[in-house]
Amino acid sequence: MARVVSLAGMEQPVERTHPPSVDELARLLADTGLPHPLLVDAARTAAAAWQPGAPPALELARAEADAIARAMLQPVVNATGVLLHTNLGRAPWPASDPGRYRNLELDLATGERGSRQAHAPTLLARACGAEAAIVVNNCASAVMLILGALAHRRDVAVSRSELVEIGGGFRVPEVMEQSGARLLEVGTTNRTRLADYRQAVDDPDSDVALVMQVHQSNYKIVGFTESVTTAQLAELDVPVVADIGSGLLDAACPWLADGPPPWLENEPAARQTLEAGADLVAFSGDKLLGGPQAGIIAGRADLVALCARHPLARALRPGGLVLGALQDLALAYLRRDGDAIPFWRLAALDVAELRTRAESIGVGQVVETMSVPGGGTLPGVEIPSAGLALAGDHRAALRRVTPPIMARVTDDQTILDLRTVDPGDDAHLATSLAALACT
Ligand SMILES: *Cc1c(COP(=O)(O)O)cnc(C)c1O
Repeated sequence: MARVVSLAGMEQPVERTHPPSVDELARLLADTGLPHPLLVDAARTAAAAWQPGAPPALELARAEADAIARAMLQPVVNATGVLLHTNLGRAPWPASDPGRYRNLELDLATGERGSRQAHAPTLLARACGAEAAIVVNNCASAVMLILGALAHRRDVAVSRSELVEIGGGFRVPEVMEQSGARLLEVGTTNRTRLADYRQAVDDPDSDVALVMQVHQSNYKIVGFTESVTTAQLAELDVPVVADIGSGLLDAACPWLADGPPPWLENEPAARQTLEAGADLVAFSGDKLLGGPQAGIIAGRADLVALCARHPLARALRPGGLVLGALQDLALAYLRRDGDAIPFWRLAALDVAELRTRAESIGVGQVVETMSVPGGGTLPGVEIPSAGLALAGDHRAALRRVTPPIMARVTDDQTILDLRTVDPGDDAHLATSLAALACT
C-alpha cells in the first residue's frame, strides 16, 4: 500500500519535473512475475525514455516489462493449420521432467558406466526394424556424422537431382564439404540411372565410400524424370545411406487405427527404406516422427557403431531431456498408440469433429479449410480441415493474448484452423475471439 502511495506521489506533479526512480519503478512491476534484474532493465529503459509530457513512467515501464515477457519462450496456440510449423518448433511434444536424476550413462544391471545411446535409440531401432540406432541433435548433424565417420577424405556419390537445400541452410554440398567427404555428382538434374552410380563406383580414379540418397523433402521434379530406387542402389558394392528427412517410421502407420492417411503417399519411411536395402537411414525427430528436435541414424550395427565412435558423436550428442522424450515416443510407437503422439493425434483428427468444435466456439464463421504437414515435408500436400473465419486481419491482436494464438490470413480474412489446436485450448480461443469481436 505504501508503494502505491509513493507511486501516486511520483506519477503526479513530481513526475513532471523529476526523472522517475528506477528502483521504485522496478518494485512496482513486481506483479509481472519477472525476476528483479529484468524489471530493473525495463525500468531503466522507461526512465531513459521518459520526459515531461510523455506517458507516465510506470506505463512506459509496464510496456517494457511486457515486451520482455513476450520475447520469452512460451507455449502458443497454433491455429495456422501448419502441423509442423518451423517457427513454432515443428512437432509438439510434452516436456515432462520432474527434475530427477536418471540413469543416463549408468548400466543399472552392472552398476558400471553405461551409454546414453542404450535407451531411446535401441527402442527406436526396434520400432523401425533396424539393427541399431544412435541419436544426435538433428538430422543435419546425423548426415554430417555419417559422412565424417564413413567417408572422410573419400567420395560420396549423390544424384544431381538430390543436391538439395532444406530450410535454414542445410545444403547437401556444403554439409559434405564440412564433413570432410568429397561429393561425387552423378546423373543429371532430372534423370539419374543405376548405371550412373555404377560408373562412379567402378571408376578407377574414384574412391567411393558410400552412395547417399537425399529425399527431395521440400520440392518436386516433374516431367521427363528418372530416378533410382533404394533397392536398385543396394545392388552396388558400397553402403547405401538414405537421408529420408521427415522420419516417417513405417509406411504402414500401424499406430493409426485407419492405417496411413491418403496424404502420406510416396513419403519414404525408415522401415521400408531399410527393408529395401539401405545400410543406414537418417531422419529428423521433430518432423513426421512427431517428437523433440533430434536426428536419428538407424541401420547396420557395425556402421552405427562407427558413427558412435567418431569424435563428432560426442559434440553432437543430445541431453537427457531429449533422450527421455524420445524414449516415451518410441514406446508409444511400439504400443502402436498414435493417440499418445500429439502430431499423429492432430493429423488424424476427423473433419466432422473439427467442424463441431468450430461450431461450439461460436464466434466467426465456420469454414472448411486445408491444413498442411509443413516443416519442409510433403510439398503440395493438403489435409482437409475445418475452422473459423473472421473478417479482417486480427493476427497482431491474437498474438497479444496469453497464451498467444497464431492464425493465418487469406483474402483479408483471419482463418483459425482447428486441426492444429489442442481441444483443451478451444475455450481460450472462444474467449479471445469474442473479445476481438467486441472491439
Ligand atoms: C529436414 C531435413 C534435413 C534437416 O533436418 P533437421 O532435423 O532440421 O536438421 C535433412 N535432410 C532432409 C532430407 C530433410 O528433409
